[in-house]
Amino acid sequence: MILGLMATKGNVGRTELTRSLAAYKVERGEDVFVYEFDVSNPKLIEYFPWDSDVVKRQVSKVDGTKCTLAGKCISACRFGAIEKVGETLVRHPHFCRGCGHCKEVCPQNAIYFDEIEAGEVGSGRADKVSFFAARLAPGEAWEGLLIKRLKETYPIEGGPAILKAPLGLGAMSLRAVKDASSLYLVTRAHEGVEGEINTFGQIVQGFDIPGAVIWRGKEVPEGVQKAAEGYGLKTLALPVVPELEGTTRQEGEETLEEIWNLGGGERK
Ligand code: SF4
Repeated sequence: MILGLMATKGNVGRTELTRSLAAYKVERGEDVFVYEFDVSNPKLIEYFPWDSDVVKRQVSKVDGTKCTLAGKCISACRFGAIEKVGETLVRHPHFCRGCGHCKEVCPQNAIYFDEIEAGEVGSGRADKVSFFAARLAPGEAWEGLLIKRLKETYPIEGGPAILKAPLGLGAMSLRAVKDASSLYLVTRAHEGVEGEINTFGQIVQGFDIPGAVIWRGKEVPEGVQKAAEGYGLKTLALPVVPELEGTTRQEGEETLEEIWNLGGGERK
């Protein structure tokens, strides 16, 4: 059972939910694996111990004293990492894959490589929780690289595991939850929530695995309920164990059990 927790907004309760789901397994004597893929805001690292290693990346740079604006690097780059704006070469380092094609074609030998710090990836263990996380370096935008590196370094080999995706329902999040055996959208009332549930429903259908909407708030609006039902999604109230927020332990635990049980199968 591998649970993928998605959200499009912060502060909907995914961090607390992840901790509660992990605590549920630990209290029953089971090991659990927790992956923090929300690399730009990895809140879980506040709650689980981890030791990290720096992830570096080679990117191309242009020596302005040698460059004559021949422009061959622009056509050699398949990733759009270099463009000409007016009489200046503009680089987009986050698109650069470090392939070196620009360097090969430059007649002035003006391209060189530099190493930058993309972020960090690491792991830790507390009690029966194995924790894996990545964090972006300040001001950097290497989400895809860090998610890939986290998965390569600590492969998801089975459950019970919790995958906390980056915010959004786009490519980065899908990459993070690719191995899930069930998917959950954690959300609350906001403008456009029904459209969000439609997008999530299509993702769940595309993955062909069970899914549910976990609602933060007292009552689930009728429109939300209908949108979820249209995709065969369950709607559950956000469960919170009493030490984190004020629901009763029994209410919280029943829903935690339901979430784990929904993810009972392995990814097809
Ligand atoms: S190293 Fe490759 S990806 Fe980077 S700018 Fe040069 S051609 Fe583009």
